[in-house]
Amino acid sequence: MTIGKLIDGKAFAAGLREQVAEGVADFVAAQGRKPGLAVVLVGEDPASAVYVRNKGKMTVEAGMESFEYKRPASIKAEDLLDLIEELNGDPRVDGILVQLPLPKHIDEQAVIAAIDPAKDVDGFHVVNSGRLAVGLPALVPCTPLGCLMLLKDELGDLSGLEAVVVGRSNIVGKPMAQLLLAESCTVTVAHSRTRDLASVVHRGDIVVAAVGRPEMIKGEWIKPGATVIDVGINRVPGEEPGKTKIVGDVATSEAISHVRAITPVPGGVGPMTIAVLLRNTLVAACMRAGLAAPEGL
Ligand code: NDP
Repeated sequence: MTIGKLIDGKAFAAGLREQVAEGVADFVAAQGRKPGLAVVLVGEDPASAVYVRNKGKMTVEAGMESFEYKRPASIKAEDLLDLIEELNGDPRVDGILVQLPLPKHIDEQAVIAAIDPAKDVDGFHVVNSGRLAVGLPALVPCTPLGCLMLLKDELGDLSGLEAVVVGRSNIVGKPMAQLLLAESCTVTVAHSRTRDLASVVHRGDIVVAAVGRPEMIKGEWIKPGATVIDVGINRVPGEEPGKTKIVGDVATSEAISHVRAITPVPGGVGPMTIAVLLRNTLVAACMRAGLAAPEGL
């Protein structure tokens, strides 16, 4: 029996980070300074702290400057906005990332809106999402851009393909749909109110699952020969008592028999997110310096 290919996101991300590092070396040679990424962490959430540590480490490994700002969960909204304002004006900082989620008393949209769109390496500012929607150059959210890179690497030209995106968040689903539309796919966006999700998913030559429900998308829903990108990260009980494991939104063991290719969880989309963040930081630095973004990025 032939089985589908597992897309190696880890290897692709490592290659992308190498390419970014080469671009950074050229930037340093031309500008006499390193691109800089500022990451703001509010509160003590252990998962967020791990993400921020990894981002800092990989930023430095790519040859860039990493600035970390840790603030207590009790920070006043105006003090956080003052910090963003300071980073907007700091010439060493090319990218600003505020680790989400923020504590409940802080309005996330107001914080995102305060970031200079030219430094918005998460691509969440309405200026960047608007630019993406109308087809202008923009800083694009890292996870969906990483998904698109994996899809293009696997499939080449995406034009005319049926793409089904399950999930409509501002972080993944909506920008993913915009990116696929820009590649001339016929895009369907499904969500919690979608009727007969199984038959909607079955239309897809491409299926992107960004729901946050463990293995919700069953193998039989997926059309034979489809390419599947599983964005979900769900912690579930593991085989051994007391242990947990991470699974995606797609029942990969069922789908693998008839897909063309699928991203595993872990090791698929996850590693792409940080690699694209580094790519976005370099692109933001180049744009701010009036340079063209390095070719191929
Ligand atoms: P959100 O919770 O913001 O959005 C989930 C989406 O799924 C919503 O649009 C929701 O619909 C939809 N949904 C929920 N239940 C169903 C259902 N039963 N049927 C169909 N659609 C449903 O999540 P995110 O977009 O932020 O993240 C999605 C997943 O991706 C999570 O597991 C998250 O951990 C992971 N993730 C992974 C990243 C990575 O680096 N690999 C980065 C970012 C996220 P509705 O809008 O109607 O409520």
